Amino acid sequence: MTGRILDGNKIRDEIKAELADQIRDLKSVGVTPGLAAVLVGENPASQLYVRSKVKNCESLGLYSEKIELTADTTQPQLLELIDKLNRRDEIDGILVQLPLPPQIDSKVILGAVSPAKDVDGFHPVNVGQLVSGRPGLVPCTPAGIIEILVRSQIPIKGARAVVMGRSDIVGKPVAMLLLHNHATVTICHSRTRDLPLVASEADILVAAMGKAALVTGDFIKPGATVIDVGQNVLKTEEEVRRVFHDPTLPLQHLAAKGSVLVGDVQPEDMKEKSGAYTPVPGGVGPLTIAMLMANTVQAARLRRGLRTAAASQP
Ligand code: NAP
Repeated sequence: MTGRILDGNKIRDEIKAELADQIRDLKSVGVTPGLAAVLVGENPASQLYVRSKVKNCESLGLYSEKIELTADTTQPQLLELIDKLNRRDEIDGILVQLPLPPQIDSKVILGAVSPAKDVDGFHPVNVGQLVSGRPGLVPCTPAGIIEILVRSQIPIKGARAVVMGRSDIVGKPVAMLLLHNHATVTICHSRTRDLPLVASEADILVAAMGKAALVTGDFIKPGATVIDVGQNVLKTEEEVRRVFHDPTLPLQHLAAKGSVLVGDVQPEDMKEKSGAYTPVPGGVGPLTIAMLMANTVQAARLRRGLRTAAASQP
């Protein structure tokens, strides 16, 4: 059996097309949703993420602003900036790119973003809204995972879902969304006993651990839907040979590009044993930015008391 590919790029394009219509409607009533992306320091991966987020916003006709601060920025300085952005009417969404430098406590900063502009969905108020099933801003990657499942007609109601990883960014919120969509949910972490056995009971298996190809065929119930959130960069031939059963193509990729991206699930096993799966790259990743834009549009509506589009909750 070969699993059906759940094509994240295709789903992202569908969502972007829908958002373009919604943005046009908002503009017709004088509202241009605006996003401010704040980057502190010179982390190259963060620079790349922020650039891509801003570029995507612009391509959809959203207003966007990139604010870059030096790595020695203090916590009070960053708090002052957040305060200003909270007050600016043309800014609907504030995104603070993580990680922040060590002198800044990210929990304090994320807690200072107005919940109404918290397009990452990390503020305790939005976490509470999510847990209690109320409308609010939902973290982007988990919301994207639900979009993939729903738009691919994967039944969630009544399904056994196993989420591997319990982070505030992915594991916990996706478990909560699956629960609200009536799955029976198990959350696993580094102390879970017999992870392969627990995982193999899942109809929907979500891997969000940040461990390259840790999930092998014995974790996957034949025909299960596997959502691979992991993004792990392999940089050596040895790593590539360890991960792939047939390393021929990945080794060519490594030689040409200098690295190979792999998820938390062994790609060949996933393809062979699952009923449907998200590839890495091209699965969950593209949805994260799409949902950030969706949240910015949603925030613009919520702040003005306008009717909201369907969120990732039933
Ligand atoms: P994280 O904060 O490091 O959390 C990892 C979680 O995995 C923790 O709960 C940890 O358990 C658990 N874990 C680690 N090793 C394990 C093991 N051997 N067995 C069982 N559980 C284990 O990571 P994150 O931010 O959630 O990100 C997870 C992965 O998703 C990363 O690869 C990240 O790059 C990727 N990601 C992708 C996107 C995207 O857009 N595609 C977005 C966000 C994140 P403990 O709690 O017990 O330590």
